[in-house]
Amino acid sequence: MKKALLEINNLCVDYVSPNGIARAVDHVSLTIAPGETVGIAGESGCGKSTLAFAIARLHKAPALISEGQILYEGRDVLKMSDKELRDFRWNDVSIVFQSAMNSLNPVITIGEQVTDVIMAHKRISLKEANKKAVELLNIVGMHGDRLQSFAHQLSGGMRQRVVIAIALALEPKLIIMDEPTTALDVVVEREILNELYDLKEKFGFSILFISHDLSLMGEIADRIGVMYAGKMIELGDAKTVFSKPSHPYTKGLISSFPTIHGPKTRLYGIPGDPVDLLRLPKGCNFNPRCNDCTEICVKDEPKLLERNAGYKVACHNI
Ligand code: ADP
Ligand code: MG
Repeated sequence: MKKALLEINNLCVDYVSPNGIARAVDHVSLTIAPGETVGIAGESGCGKSTLAFAIARLHKAPALISEGQILYEGRDVLKMSDKELRDFRWNDVSIVFQSAMNSLNPVITIGEQVTDVIMAHKRISLKEANKKAVELLNIVGMHGDRLQSFAHQLSGGMRQRVVIAIALALEPKLIIMDEPTTALDVVVEREILNELYDLKEKFGFSILFISHDLSLMGEIADRIGVMYAGKMIELGDAKTVFSKPSHPYTKGLISSFPTIHGPKTRLYGIPGDPVDLLRLPKGCNFNPRCNDCTEICVKDEPKLLERNAGYKVACHNI
């Protein structure tokens, strides 16, 4: 196995409030190899964004990393100084968030925004930065002329492409994408993701791709991790997670989404409400919503155990 680019060990992230401590990331361990695409799936509120932000130490109060370790190329991210962290965030890792396309500055041109990023981190002339900006726009399927545009003159899909171009500007080795295309229509979403996939093949970066849409993930990820109530409950190769999931929650998630290519089937969804982190049930967090729940499930918490090489599931009934 290739040496990990990113290694997360037993990470816990808590939101501390007068009402109690909500553990949004609960002892999560995950590795990402160079060039690998890892998908993280799960319903809204299960801790995906909290995990993404914590990896780059971009989480803000009341979120707090209370346990665990994050290693990037063997370097301890939680021990980095402010300067190391700044370099790490741009040169090594970049994040495209959920509504990033709305974070473009409305009063300066796209070109200035792209060149600003390049020049803040690389010692090159404005002329060279401009040339690089055109290249970046071309890479994400846009014409260099667009550098003169302002954000409001672009469609949502184009703005998101610009954000991806900025994320690629410094050629990071890891790109974290937190529902990067959910605000777009499905056709544009797929187009952008296919382009991203081509770029990845060309540049060899790794991607941590977060989405609630497992069918999309089944197409682009090498491995998929499924989270429930802050815990990783199933983790393995994308093909198996998507086509032969083991955990009852993963099965429910998959049947909740229509696939574009697959046969039309009824959508079952998952009964019950998403879990409240301040009021977790005893035993397995998923037990109130699980059809396969047995006695042990309401007593003991299931561990994330390896079932096949590299394939892990946290369920008593498997
Ligand atoms: P996801 O990205 O999977 O939708 P988040 O990481 O945004 O989930 O949130 C996970 C959980 O963390 C939420 O269910 C909520 O309980 C808690 N949480 C998120 N943001 C805050 C906050 N600012 N203050 C308190 N709790 C929060
Ligand atoms: Mg989120």
